[in-house]
Amino acid sequence: KGILYLVPTPIGNLEDMTYRAVRILGEVDAIAAEDTRHTGILLKHFDISKPLISYHEHNKEEKGNAIIDMLLDGKNIACVSDAGMPAISDPGADLASKAIAHHISVVPLPGANAALTALIASDLDTKQFTFFGFLPKRGKHRNDALQLMAKQRGTLIFYEAPHRLQEVLQDMYDAFGNRPITIARELTKKFETFLRSDLSSICNDLEKITYKGEFVLVIGGSETGDAIDEVPQQSMSYEEAVAEL
Ligand code: SAM
Repeated sequence: KGILYLVPTPIGNLEDMTYRAVRILGEVDAIAAEDTRHTGILLKHFDISKPLISYHEHNKEEKGNAIIDMLLDGKNIACVSDAGMPAISDPGADLASKAIAHHISVVPLPGANAALTALIASDLDTKQFTFFGFLPKRGKHRNDALQLMAKQRGTLIFYEAPHRLQEVLQDMYDAFGNRPITIARELTKKFETFLRSDLSSICNDLEKITYKGEFVLVIGGSETGDAIDEVPQQSMSYEEAVAEL
């Protein structure tokens, strides 16, 4: 059997490609890519020439099975998305599940990811956080989701499209009340900016924000309810941990 590699790619700055990612992409038999044209440009930059398989949200069932057949046939395949970590708000998770179900080795590579990159410079709690990805697009579903999230302890991390941002920020203020928020824009790119503020001030200034580029929203969690970090830490020996697995 071959190996399925999950390979992160840069979220804007090509220097964030890892040496290992370049090596693995250069060694595999084929690369499953969300957008073959987009990945073709990246590969050209790193002087890599490999067969590309189009694998995306709308063909993942049929193409996923074809990729599994190739892996069972001994081919090594890398899975990449357009940017960042495959399987994080991107295709890849289904392919990894299928491979695991067929007892095929899945090797994940660490690398660029917008959520964690935004979080570590957000000035919000990094000890406990929840990643939600994209909120539902429709108002009612979005508001229902936000109501549930309002009770969540720990920092909340969201992805959002620029054309929905203004509406979503207002809905967040309505659901969460005033909370600290960091809007991370164009991470790793020329116009990278961090707006560290609170939902009330942001909603008073909604028309002053530039709604262009890519955004991560990092928001303070609920201050009430049970916090995991209040549970006393138990130290467990390696033997005890293995015995519990
Ligand atoms: N797989 C990617 C990852 O690991 O971060 C996420 C892909 S998701 C389809 C795209 C969303 O990620 C964008 O709409 C934006 O919210 C966020 N994003 C990606 N690149 C970004 C960047 N350079 N700056 C800010 N947000 C970014």
